[in-house]
Amino acid sequence: MQQNRYINTYIDTRGAAEGRVTFTEAIIKGMVPGGGLFVPKVLPRFTLEELQELLPLSYAQKAAHIFKAFGVDLPEQVIDACMEDAYGPATANFDTPEVAPVKRLDSNTYVLELFRGPTLAFKDLALQCMPRMFSASVDALRAQDAPETKEDFLILVATSGDTGKAALEGFKDRDYTSIIVYYPFGGVSDLQQAQMLTSEGNNVAAYGLRGNFDDCQTVVKQVFSNEAFAQELATKHKLRFSSANSINWGRLLPQVVYYVNAYTQMIASGVVLPGEPIDVCVPTGNFGNILAAYYAAEIGTPIERLLCASNTNRVLTDFINTGTYDISERDFVATPSPSMDILVSNNLERQLFELGGRNAQQIKEWMRLLKEEKRFTVDKQTFAALRERFSADWVSVEESLATIRRVYDAHDYLLDPHTAVGYQVAERLRGTNPVLIAATAHWCKFSADVYRGLAGIAPGDNLPGNLADLNGFALNRYIADNYQHAGAVPKRMAGLEDKEQRFDEVYNADFASVKKSIEEFLQ
Ligand SMILES: *Cc1c(COP(=O)(O)O)cnc(C)c1O
Repeated sequence: MQQNRYINTYIDTRGAAEGRVTFTEAIIKGMVPGGGLFVPKVLPRFTLEELQELLPLSYAQKAAHIFKAFGVDLPEQVIDACMEDAYGPATANFDTPEVAPVKRLDSNTYVLELFRGPTLAFKDLALQCMPRMFSASVDALRAQDAPETKEDFLILVATSGDTGKAALEGFKDRDYTSIIVYYPFGGVSDLQQAQMLTSEGNNVAAYGLRGNFDDCQTVVKQVFSNEAFAQELATKHKLRFSSANSINWGRLLPQVVYYVNAYTQMIASGVVLPGEPIDVCVPTGNFGNILAAYYAAEIGTPIERLLCASNTNRVLTDFINTGTYDISERDFVATPSPSMDILVSNNLERQLFELGGRNAQQIKEWMRLLKEEKRFTVDKQTFAALRERFSADWVSVEESLATIRRVYDAHDYLLDPHTAVGYQVAERLRGTNPVLIAATAHWCKFSADVYRGLAGIAPGDNLPGNLADLNGFALNRYIADNYQHAGAVPKRMAGLEDKEQRFDEVYNADFASVKKSIEEFLQ
């Protein structure tokens, strides 16, 4: 194990970061103005012996150990306390002490259950840890009189559903922060809306905007980049804007932990011999989750191939198979796996930076081409490096729903529509290694499409007769009652039905209205 604490610094993918940036600064800044994404200058490396030494540790202890190995510039006891608070038994944020358990489907196929947190989706793994680290970083930087922490922080999030609730749960009652989440009014499921509008905490709000997710994102970006409003916020309210999106390194590092932890679990249960390689398959959107698996492999976890699974929005599949990323003539398609409905995969930039030998000039050029011409092609070496580690495929809407039924029958296990995409791709691309499939959401968050899959109803068709009128909570109960391997609906979802909705405000998706929503929130 690493005995000497060292402090890592951060470089960025476009070569623009100035000075000596540490973890605490990277998490507060989020990204480099102008575009670059932070990556640690040095990656730690665990030997097999060191990985095996992690076996007896709790999840929180493993997480703390890995953060220290990454050279996070916070005192050891602060890191330990953040991790205990995020993942430990006292707070019980996760409904099992294993936090992210590995379940066996057959002797060569395993699922990594990343949906045992407060909002039942994998973003909890990052968003329970990151806000705690964020507050601790503010503390640490204030002790050094760092100018960027003179004010407290107002986090703004635009969400299509999953991220918003995970961010609200993560930031509620965290020091030095407030959070407002904007969602497309009428554009999220009744369950997702109930999750957000019942959120607790004195520093949170969730508002609907009249428009689609794109409109939400656009207006939140406008607010972020409005200098005059930022100035007003700083002088009047002593607040500074920040974001919590998945390009923040503080969200990525916690995700590395669950892949290391999964491998140690697989050793502990005798599924693999120490050092025996596994493949990992990830249903992918913004490329954060699969990038975390890549970093887990880089630091010594025996992960051989990374299988990238897409839905109909298959831009990543085409990129990994051709070396050309092209959105010039690609239409956005809404699917039953909405969290993977993405055309510009932000974290891919970090992956290309790593695979291309950390050449910031090259990244800058590719990102310029993506912005101006909506396409770019990577060079031969980077493409070869990509092909060496990654395989990719995509799954149609029909196939993804059929997979839910097939896996339920074959393995007595109910998948959500995102994980179903991962399962189907794993089946197509797998070699002889055991495959670990990232299960990114609990089925109860997407019960209408889960039911379509189970009952063989075509995508988009109405549910039959008496089921058509049920709300999401009732449909969850129906599935749990009629499909014995579905298991019970988690209390964290079922219990929301009778909970008071705290927020009912809906605003127009324009700058003036959103500004007004912020001013009213701050009253
Ligand atoms: C966010 C999300 C994804 C995509 O993860 P990325 O890190 O963006 O690739 C997949 N499934 C679910 C359920 C999600 O919430």
